[in-house]
Amino acid sequence: MATAAHTDLMLAEAPAPTGVGPRRAAGAETARLPARQRTLKAAIGATGVGLHSGARVTIRLVPAPVGHGIVFLRTDTGAHIPARHDHVVDTRLCTVLGVGHDPGARIGTVEHVMAALSAAGIDNALIKVSGPEVPIMDGSAAPFTFLIDCAGIAAQDAALSVLQVLRPVRVKEGDATAALLPATDTLLRDEGARLALALEIDFAADAIGHQERALLLTPDRFRDELAAARTFGFAEDLQRLRAHGLARGGSLANAVVLAGGKVVNEGGLRFTDEFVRHKLLDAVGDLALAGMPIQARFVGHRSGHRLNNQLLRALFDQPEAWRIVPAGARPKRVPTPRAAAAALPSGAIAAA
Ligand SMILES: [Zn+2]
Repeated sequence: MATAAHTDLMLAEAPAPTGVGPRRAAGAETARLPARQRTLKAAIGATGVGLHSGARVTIRLVPAPVGHGIVFLRTDTGAHIPARHDHVVDTRLCTVLGVGHDPGARIGTVEHVMAALSAAGIDNALIKVSGPEVPIMDGSAAPFTFLIDCAGIAAQDAALSVLQVLRPVRVKEGDATAALLPATDTLLRDEGARLALALEIDFAADAIGHQERALLLTPDRFRDELAAARTFGFAEDLQRLRAHGLARGGSLANAVVLAGGKVVNEGGLRFTDEFVRHKLLDAVGDLALAGMPIQARFVGHRSGHRLNNQLLRALFDQPEAWRIVPAGARPKRVPTPRAAAAALPSGAIAAA
């Protein structure tokens, strides 16, 4: 586990935005995140391929009423699938949500669109998808951020609640770790941020090696630093996956592919540390499955979808480690017994 001191150092040393990434839409709302719930101003859609099925699939982001949350609708089966951590049914290759054991009620590769929605501060939306996976697009969240910018964002007539982490929660698997720590006033000095993230990765491949990055999550910093970072994979794994009927839609058009430790994409990388940026993007998407914005510091070391989901499950298993407060409330480190009692869910999660 990374020590608290190391975490603070990483966050304090977060590099300045590079200005690389999808173009900012004129008039995009970038000020502090609001205390009211938000949805899209209009419905908007796109068509792409499923990473694993290789099939063409259409996605449509549709405005939804107050208290709706983010819900996926499989238009081919009629199944509604809430975007919540307790509906995660598989994390081996991507984050898959499901309801029960019905294969028609599963939706895969939700993490990139969830990251874009969460970073933009969209609380309520119906995500209609015509097949079993969200289209992979270019392997990043930038196309979804672009769709949200085109649709616009509408504030709704209801207060927003956030989940405030009060005590550290940590999970570990092998040498991979992930933690949620209480946010501090200092770290959230930028009032646009609720979540601070720091992540380290280590890969044997020369092109990746050791990378670390930290940032305070705001709509602007997500757009500039994370949104365009693509998913990545190894050519050897791709062959193995294809032999099992997976990654049929995977190509150099939607992933950074490494062979013999080197990047084989003709255009190279979008960022020198595109890999850790993408892992941060994934963490934003996976943490969005809390069902409401989280006010906390996330610290990961070699963590991925599986550990991110275990972290949320561990958090919700410890009612004394969090409470639900109106958006804009100041961080609180250690609760009094009375505050801890008031932090118990009392239906707030179900309503989120
Ligand atoms: Zn990803």
